Formats: sequence, structure tokens, C-alpha cells
Amino acid sequence: MVVGDVTTGTELLIIGAGPGGYVAAIRAGQLGIDTTLVEKDAYGGTCLNHGCIPSKALISATDVAHDAREAEAMGIHADPAVDLAGMVDWKDEVVDQLTGGVEQLCKANDVNLVEGRAEFADENTVRVAHSGDGQGSESIEFEHAIVATGSRPVEVPNFEFDGEHVISSRDALALDSVPDSLVVVGAGYIGMELATVFAKLGTDVTVVEMLDDILPPYEDDVSKVVRDRAEDLGIDFFFGEAASDWEESGDGITVRTENEDGDVSEFGAEKVLVAVGRAPVTDTLNLDAVGLETDEDGFLATDDRARTDVESIFAVGDVAGEPMLAHKGMKEGEVAAEIVADEPSALDYQSVPAAVFTDPEIGTVGMTEEEAEEAGFSPVVGKFPMASSGRALTLGDTDGFTRVVADDDAGFILGAQVVAPEASELVAEFGLAIEMGATLEDVAATIHTHPTLGETVMEAVENAQGKAIHTLNR
Ligand SMILES: Cc1cc2nc3c(=O)[nH]c(=O)nc-3n(C[C@H](O)[C@H](O)[C@H](O)COP(=O)(O)OP(=O)(O)OC[C@H]3O[C@@H](n4cnc5c(N)ncnc54)[C@H](O)[C@@H]3O)c2cc1C
Repeated sequence: MVVGDVTTGTELLIIGAGPGGYVAAIRAGQLGIDTTLVEKDAYGGTCLNHGCIPSKALISATDVAHDAREAEAMGIHADPAVDLAGMVDWKDEVVDQLTGGVEQLCKANDVNLVEGRAEFADENTVRVAHSGDGQGSESIEFEHAIVATGSRPVEVPNFEFDGEHVISSRDALALDSVPDSLVVVGAGYIGMELATVFAKLGTDVTVVEMLDDILPPYEDDVSKVVRDRAEDLGIDFFFGEAASDWEESGDGITVRTENEDGDVSEFGAEKVLVAVGRAPVTDTLNLDAVGLETDEDGFLATDDRARTDVESIFAVGDVAGEPMLAHKGMKEGEVAAEIVADEPSALDYQSVPAAVFTDPEIGTVGMTEEEAEEAGFSPVVGKFPMASSGRALTLGDTDGFTRVVADDDAGFILGAQVVAPEASELVAEFGLAIEMGATLEDVAATIHTHPTLGETVMEAVENAQGKAIHTLNR
């Protein structure tokens, strides 16, 4: 049957079922709003299908093998064999469980699910082209819409993704055999996480980066811990090198890069992974039909209620700008749904945490010392090295530190930088502290379980107060 020219209506229409869109849909459903969620590909979006979850699944799996190999000091002698196809199957099961859960939660909250690609037809209508032969299209009229179409990987000129020689992060997460050698273009968080996975799987990894260090947004002492560990894993770094082109050579490829003096270098590999950033998907929505414009990078501007310049249309997640992180999109989705339901709600970005799942992990939230100074605070800093943590020693994982930045006058916690095992979890305590307006005193007075990595939070805070017990004070 061809489904064409059917027009249905909905109070809230959401385009895209990634973390921004599906969270908005579930929240809207909870609030009793008649909600329709359109997805062209798979529930859960990039995050569940090709991003956060599959990458973290593979990181955990490779860590099991790597840690076992490295555990001789603990008296363990093991040489696990890795079957990448089996590992990818397990990762796919994790993904299926979560995407199935999203679909069920949407249905349980009375969200109407529509499969297909949506674009705006006019201010109150989207046209949805259904996937599959003969499925036609339908029009859906809406009172409010939320754009949650996410982002796609940026291509580098001369490096169009072909899934074979030139791969994206999505391809890298679905390989069925371990490449002997890999050039990674870009040392941002996606490039570094995947470089670490493949190095641990035995791939000969070379990272080429245009800038002069890995992980540009992070302070030098934070990225240094990760760079040193990556070098120990055998990853080679070439900084100040821009990927210029590549060609097939023998049974692999040669990647050429150029530095700012025009000197050309060549790197042989089986594949090249291009991970130079992501761009918002706003160019396929026919935004002209609703009178919306994007900025020059393709992002939609929003206010603190996730509203775009058109009052009935909201934007959440990667399309609404940096940081392009799943949890930022989820919060925006919740707020947008609450505003549609006339609930009092607003976005507060003062403590959006960020995590990089390298070895060791990085977790940051709030301000660095420099940012605090620029913002007019007199910051005081406290730091606790992992090498002094009993728990880190029992884990055999002592690189890195926990650092807190606070206001010297009032003691309010302003930010934290953690580079450590489980840094992605540790940073949550600082996020809560910032959100609550907690002071150094509040955290120092909180009894922390022993022996845990969480104690490093308390020790860093006490160090800022000049009264840390297990490290020398500043
Ligand atoms: C390898 C990798 C690792 C990552 N790791 C992390 C991490 O550890 N932590 C973290 O916070 N973030 C991580 N991210 C980023 C995270 O995935 C994104 O920030 C997040 O997915 C954005 O959510 P979203 O809802 O805005 O968009 P998306 O998740 O991209 O979802 C958008 C959805 O919209 C659909 N869509 C697009 N256009 C249309 C249309 N016209 N009609 C219908 N449907 C449409 C798409 O098919 C997609 O399903 C990672 C990303 C990658 C690539």
C-alpha cells in the first residue's frame, strides 16, 4: 500500500530520536502532551547507535584484554585472544538492548512513533518521506516542533568516507577485523578514544593533528597525562600536520600530510580514520519553510528555554550548539518539553560536565583556574595526585590527579579537572557541588568512603584549604 498525502495532526512534533529528541518525547508524554517522534534511521540516534554507547562498549572490552595482559605485577599471567567480530557482536547486543528500551519507553509514554525523514513544508507542517519502497510520504501538522536532528562527521577535502580505506568513527566501531595499522586524522576526543582502542587491540596507530597537542580544549597538564600513556601504548603522534590526500599503495594506503612550511610527510597504513569534528544536521530540513536561519556553522540559536527565533519551534542537542554532548542534549530535550507543557523550566549551563574515555579518563566541569581569573574570581586551587590514592594503587592505575578550583573569598566550588581512572564518574560530585553552590567546606566535611577514588575529591578540596592529610599542602 502506498501511504501518500495523508495528513495527521499532533500537538508536539519532534524530528530525530537521539538523546535530545527521545528524552523530549518521553518527558512530553509524561506531561500528557500529544507527541509524535519522527526518526529516519534508528532510535537512540548517534549516541546509542554509533557514538557514546558503542565506543564505550569497545573501550571496556579492550580494557579487559589489555588489563589482563598488563597484570603481571599483580601476579596474573594472561594472554587473552581477542575476536573483534565477537566483541562487535557483544557491543551490538548492548546497543540493541538500549535502543529497544528507548522505543518501549516512548510507546509506554504514548508517544506516536513515525519512521521516515522529515522536512518542514510550512510553519505548521512537516512532510515525512517514509523509508522503504512504496511507502510514500505523509504530512503531519503540529502546534510545536522540536528539531533534534543531531550531527554528522565532518569530512576533510580529499578524504571522502568510503567505509573501506577512509573510515569514519561509525565505520571504526563496526569493523570485523583488527587493522594492522591505522592513521587517525584528528586528536580530539573521538580520535583519541578510538586511537586508544585500536592501540590496545594491537594496531600500529599513528595520529596526525594540525594543532600542536592532543585534546585542544584541555589544559596542558591534563592532556599530558593522556598523551604520555598513549605513547606508552605505542601510539605515534605527529603535530602541526594537516592531512592533504591519500592513495592506495600495495595492499594499504599512503596518507600525505603537510605542515605549515609546506613540507609533505607520508604515512603508510591499512586504513585512515578521519575524526576532525562533527557538524550539525540542519541543511536537510528545509528551514526556509519556517523562516529559520542557522549561523555560519549550521547551528540553530536558542534561548534559555531551547526556543529558536520562531516561538513554536525548539532546537535541542547537537543542532543547538556546543558542547555537542549527549547529556547536554538530554537536558535541553527535557526543558523544551516542559516549556511546551507550560511548566516553569529553563536551561542552566553553569556546570555541564565533559568526559573523555581515554586511558586514563578525563572528567571536567565548570571553570579552569584561568577561566576563573578571567571571570573576575580570585581562584584557589587544590590538587591530589592519584599516586597518593590508596584505591588507585590497589587498581594498579596511578597516573593523573584530581583538581578543584574554588573562589578564595567565599569558598564556592567553581570547577574541577580530573584525569584518573573513573574520572568520568568522579567529576559528577563536583558537578553537584557547583549546581548546589557548595563550598570547599561542604565537600571537606562530607565523609567519603575509604578506600575509593572519591576520596581524591575530598583530598583535593582539603588541599585547596591547606589541610590535606595524604599529600603535602600547597
Ligand atoms: C564516536 C562518538 C563517541 C561519542 N561519545 C560521547 C560520549 O561519550 N558522551 C557524550 O556525551 N557524547 C558523545 N558523543 C556525542 C553524542 O553522540 C552526541 O552529542 C549526541 O548523540 C547528540 O544527540 P542529538 O539528539 O542531538 O543527535 P543524534 O544522536 O545525532 O540524533 C539525531 C537523530 O536524528 C535523526 N534525523 C536526522 N535528520 C532527520 C530527519 N530529517 N528526519 C528524521 N530523523 C532525522 C538521525 O537519524 C538521528 O537518529 C559521541 C559521538 C561520537 C560520534
